[in-house]
Amino acid sequence: MKRIAILGSTGSIGTQALNVIRRHRDLFAVEVLCAGSNAELLARQAIEFNPNAVVIADENKYQLLRDALAHTDIKVYAGADAMTDLMDMADIDMVLAAIVGFAGLRPTLRALEKGKAVALANKETMVVAGSIVTATAARHRAPILPVDSEHSAIFQCLVGENSKIDKILLTASGGPFRGRTRDELRHVTLADALKHPNWSMGRKVTIDSASLMNKGLEVIEAKWLFGVDAKDIEVLVHPQSVVHSMVQFSDGSIKAQLGVPTMETPIQYAFSFPERIESHLPRLDFGKYHDLTFEGPDRQTFRCLDMAYSAIEQGGNMPCIMNAANEVAVQRFIDGKIGFLDIADCVERAMQTAHFIAEPTLDDLFLTDKTVRQQ
Ligand code: NDP
Repeated sequence: MKRIAILGSTGSIGTQALNVIRRHRDLFAVEVLCAGSNAELLARQAIEFNPNAVVIADENKYQLLRDALAHTDIKVYAGADAMTDLMDMADIDMVLAAIVGFAGLRPTLRALEKGKAVALANKETMVVAGSIVTATAARHRAPILPVDSEHSAIFQCLVGENSKIDKILLTASGGPFRGRTRDELRHVTLADALKHPNWSMGRKVTIDSASLMNKGLEVIEAKWLFGVDAKDIEVLVHPQSVVHSMVQFSDGSIKAQLGVPTMETPIQYAFSFPERIESHLPRLDFGKYHDLTFEGPDRQTFRCLDMAYSAIEQGGNMPCIMNAANEVAVQRFIDGKIGFLDIADCVERAMQTAHFIAEPTLDDLFLTDKTVRQQ
């Protein structure tokens, strides 16, 4: 029985992970559930899955959560520090890192420091501190299993291989605005940006998909996960989202991983690796896909992609600067304070003006994140 702690259990990835566990209760148990502020859903999840402990980051929701679980023996905690400290629990075999944004970094790092296997959805953790995260994982022999569908695909293509990677072909759906011009994007609304053609996800990653920042974050994530230079990672727009990514090897052969677009498959694979276990999920019906198409991204319209390549090329705290600015800009777009195209402008300005540190410590990264957010 694998005992799993879920960071971000109330989100899109978190709830899909619980679907996987619900179907495989003989293999997986929930040890800890953590959420941001949705105490009602967290309490319902806790009553169903009976974890050892739950944590809510928002301390104002502590009493509500405690009252809802008063009739159980589940331990209830609140605050970001409690969430990080709980990663020390000996009974946790695996941590699903599914908090959105920079907030996921500290508990994920702690889990790795304690040698726990980490199923990683929270790409921002890798973007901000990839060198520290991978070094920590190596030092404590803590495996990182990718959950992001593209990275899971690449990981699956690499199983059984020890030859050099020539190139990673990272696929992208292109998001809801594929084919639009900058002029057409000037007045798009939040509702437009949230209409993703293939995936149902949390708001932040959906907006990132619309701006192609998501693909930029994934390039950086892939660089750290697979030790490949960003110049050897090519983004290919593949609107059908059936080929989840591909790897080209030194002999020119290419391996791809395919499947219907659902996050439950990569979540389940990260949980069960190295085994594959049964899944009731729909099978890919090639009869329904007459065309699987691939094209280059429109880098002029969707400027965030090249900003991410530039950030990883500059290195240091630049990806952290980019990520902090993007998190703030996306939130302001969601709040209706800025337009869609302002997101890229805001990120670009931060990358040009924030204080650059070539070899940042973890403390430097926390300070960078805080300062850029204030700016
Ligand atoms: P959601 O917004 O749906 O969920 C985010 C989760 O994080 C919620 O449980 C939320 O809690 C919690 N949370 C937010 N802020 C904090 C905080 N400060 N402290 C603790 N918990 C917090 O996001 P997604 O599930 O869509 O995405 C999660 C991560 O997975 C992101 O990094 C995303 O890029 C990545 N990812 C997502 C995919 C998807 O299909 N959704 C696909 C691939 C990667 P609450 O709701 O209670 O406030």
